[in-house]
Amino acid sequence: MMHRDDNAPQSRPWHTFPVEKTQLELQTGPDGLSDTEVQSRLTRYGPNRLAEPARRGPLMRLLSQFHNVLLYAMMGAAVITALLGHWLDTAVLMAAVVVNALIGFIQEGKAEAALAAIRGMLAPHATVVRAGKRSEIDATTLAPGDVVVLASGDRVPADLRLIASRELRVDEAALTGESEPVQKEPTTVKEDAALGDRWCMAYAGTVVVYGQATGIVVATGAHTELGRINHLLTDVDSGTTPLLRQIDRFGHGLAGAIAVVAVLTFLLGWLWRGEPVGEMFLVVVALVASAIPEGLPAIMTVILARGVQRMAREKAIVRRLPAVETLGSVTVICSDKTGTLTRNEMTVQRVVAAGHVYDVSGAGYVPEGHFSLDGADVDLHGHPELALTARVGELCNDARLLQDAEGHWRIEGDPTEGALLVLGAKAGLTRDALQAHWPRLDAIPFESQHRFMATYHLDKSGNAGDSDDSNGSGTPWIFVKGAPERIFEMCRTQIVAPGGQPRAPLDVDYWRRMVTDTAAQGLRVLGLAYKQAKPAGERLEFSDVEDGFTLLALVGIIDPPRPEAIAAVAECHRAGIRVKMITGDHAETAKAIGAQLDIGIGKPAVTGAEVALMDDAELRRVALDIDVFARASPEHKLRLVQALQDDGQVVAMTGDGVNDAPALKRADVGVAMGFKGTEAAKEAADIVLTDDNFASIAKAVRQGRGVYDNLKKFILFMLPTNGGEALVVIAGVMLSLGVVALTPAQVLWINMVTSSTLGIALAFERAEPGIMARTPRPPGASLLSWFFVWRVTLVSILMMIGTFGLFYLEWRNGASADAARTMAVNALVMAEMFYLISSRSIFATSLSWQGLFGNRIALITIAACLALQLFYTYVPFMQATFGSSPLNAREWLEVLGAGLLVFFGAELEKWVVRRAGWAERLAVQ
Ligand code: ADP
Ligand code: MG
Repeated sequence: MMHRDDNAPQSRPWHTFPVEKTQLELQTGPDGLSDTEVQSRLTRYGPNRLAEPARRGPLMRLLSQFHNVLLYAMMGAAVITALLGHWLDTAVLMAAVVVNALIGFIQEGKAEAALAAIRGMLAPHATVVRAGKRSEIDATTLAPGDVVVLASGDRVPADLRLIASRELRVDEAALTGESEPVQKEPTTVKEDAALGDRWCMAYAGTVVVYGQATGIVVATGAHTELGRINHLLTDVDSGTTPLLRQIDRFGHGLAGAIAVVAVLTFLLGWLWRGEPVGEMFLVVVALVASAIPEGLPAIMTVILARGVQRMAREKAIVRRLPAVETLGSVTVICSDKTGTLTRNEMTVQRVVAAGHVYDVSGAGYVPEGHFSLDGADVDLHGHPELALTARVGELCNDARLLQDAEGHWRIEGDPTEGALLVLGAKAGLTRDALQAHWPRLDAIPFESQHRFMATYHLDKSGNAGDSDDSNGSGTPWIFVKGAPERIFEMCRTQIVAPGGQPRAPLDVDYWRRMVTDTAAQGLRVLGLAYKQAKPAGERLEFSDVEDGFTLLALVGIIDPPRPEAIAAVAECHRAGIRVKMITGDHAETAKAIGAQLDIGIGKPAVTGAEVALMDDAELRRVALDIDVFARASPEHKLRLVQALQDDGQVVAMTGDGVNDAPALKRADVGVAMGFKGTEAAKEAADIVLTDDNFASIAKAVRQGRGVYDNLKKFILFMLPTNGGEALVVIAGVMLSLGVVALTPAQVLWINMVTSSTLGIALAFERAEPGIMARTPRPPGASLLSWFFVWRVTLVSILMMIGTFGLFYLEWRNGASADAARTMAVNALVMAEMFYLISSRSIFATSLSWQGLFGNRIALITIAACLALQLFYTYVPFMQATFGSSPLNAREWLEVLGAGLLVFFGAELEKWVVRRAGWAERLAVQ
């Protein structure tokens, strides 16, 4: 809970304070707070978290459960029985209504809890400077006075007074409704400036769309501007899915159909068969109760929630529920390359410099390895251009190379840059010494739009190369590294021979050949260049890096494909899903890696520049045909998604940057990277992968198909019971038995207790082995196909034959109505138990070990149901309530027979469908 603190800093006009005053007021400095100070401020001001929005109270949630046509029908039936004086039926009906609402209430609560737990996995992070060290923390642990670093794609974690910025642009739509990003800088503004005009402030909940900045936290949690308007941004929607809506519509249709059948049956019995009106009312009530699948909505929710939980275990967090279903119908997956299809553990393997191609040994981030030329080790002292390459790579760099307690080397930051740090370490350079001698004065960070990074340094070591403009403070250097073609544009000269001197005009053709040669081996290529000059102005601007550089080297970085991605791509191909790679990397690199993954073999790679030149019609053709898109920017992703969708494809698209958000939103399933992805991308996505791994997308697709299958199986399991019961009641009227074969109370027992218990088992059904060998389901195909109607009708009739048949035999042989009904109820439940086993797969046989015993939960629910039926048949209380009476051994055998009839009948139908070869076609509906 937030502490109310009158000294809370949040109420000051921070936007009018200069940086020093802000620091003074908050007792903080450029190095940030110490850990103990953070702790004490956290206890004082509370965690940086917004109060959960008020959800519907439990009472409202419970009451809303009663708002359901089917329950209205049951309440109507209860009124009828009450008017007729059949109090027992009234009581049971009302009890059923209440129990049904309770089940709905509990299940909904559980599903919500599951989603809430998953919501917690999406907690935002922030980069802070504390005690002079930069680290990533959970954003809830921010306190006023903390120094926060922002980069493009970040969601601003708290209200900040900016102290430094570089081209910072922030989307404040969440706060001000203004959709154009706002440029920010640290200079103070007037006291009465509106929120949207306080350029020196960055407010919690807004999104950095460009640039970088540092700011001091001035308000957290409920004290932020966002906290004042109090709404939670990062959320998992708990809405409904197309399928649930379809089921809802089905409920309405069913209610109408039941009404019609009930009225017809009533008129038929009364006018044609001459039954007394009172009896006919009871029949109608039984009919209404039997035909309504009470447990359906609650269990559908359980199946979806289980699916979401399972996906979360497989590292795919579902943010929007409908994605669970859409996943099953995905026909194209467009994936990032770096880190998603590849390991993102980069190692520099070759350096091209001064006319030579050097090999670098060693693997991963362990900084051990040698430089060699044609197999012979080289000494860096004789190769200053190599030493300078290592230096540029190490200085023009924002990553950190760390060794953890167990001695493992790892990287913080961009793995591409990490690889250069390792290269530097192999060349014997250490970061700290370098930074002391070559302090960085300014930088232009890497952005995937411009594909390079530049830094500006002063060489204080004194040995200032070939330039003499060194004054007392040292020689200025500007370093760039980035995509080779970008770097070539900046360079005029190159280093010709080992030794670093002399320089010669740039031989672009030679370098291009070297790029192609390196990239064709699947290596990611970076160019490195330098110039000894200082920026024109105080800061390093784009105009300072346009020209005048000397090309130093190319480095080739290996980033091997993930083995599991290779398998996952193969699985997707079997599942009829096209996999396309969209990368910012060089076309040759992309093609070579694609070939290792079986993506786009034998076809050219198309570059973003080419995409930009195509009109929509051409892009549509190309988007479908081509599988590798290289040097593509996020803007191209949006057009690709659109082109594929125009063609009728269902597209899953991955992304991690701010600029990916539109494509992620547009895609049928937007997939954001949880690890390297920005908050902006995560927010736009339907699914967030916690491990950034392509294989997790394939697993999510498999789960999505499994969930959809389970929903179908459950519906196919549930409805015939209702159909069977209704037919039994109608048959009784047709034969003028004068008694109902199933009373309303009995029907409700079956529908609510036994069906629901058994049906839950199908939520635990695993995806069928062949599920990824099917073609994707056509989107928008109705769940309740004609085949479903047929299957439900067939099984309903089979259930009716066994149930009514046994009732009729008993009744004809002079048994009491109650005794005959006991047979009917047990026969029906037995049929359900057997049919549950058959329902475990829609087409495949259940006559196998796996088919009969493969789902442990099914066996448990069947055992539970058996116990319930013994209870129903033998316990005096149940006998008094439901009119049941004990059965003898022969009768139990007959009951078993009714079960076997349904089981073998259903299995026979499956066999016929398989034999006729319809299963494949029907399976994808
Ligand atoms: P991907 O889609 O594979 O993630 P990126 O957009 O990250 O591609 O990178 C595109 C290109 O930009 C790379 O091929 C490389 O030449 C260059 N590049 C990548 N990272 C950096 C970096 N940190 N600094 C400079 N250039 C980079
Ligand atoms: Mg990248």
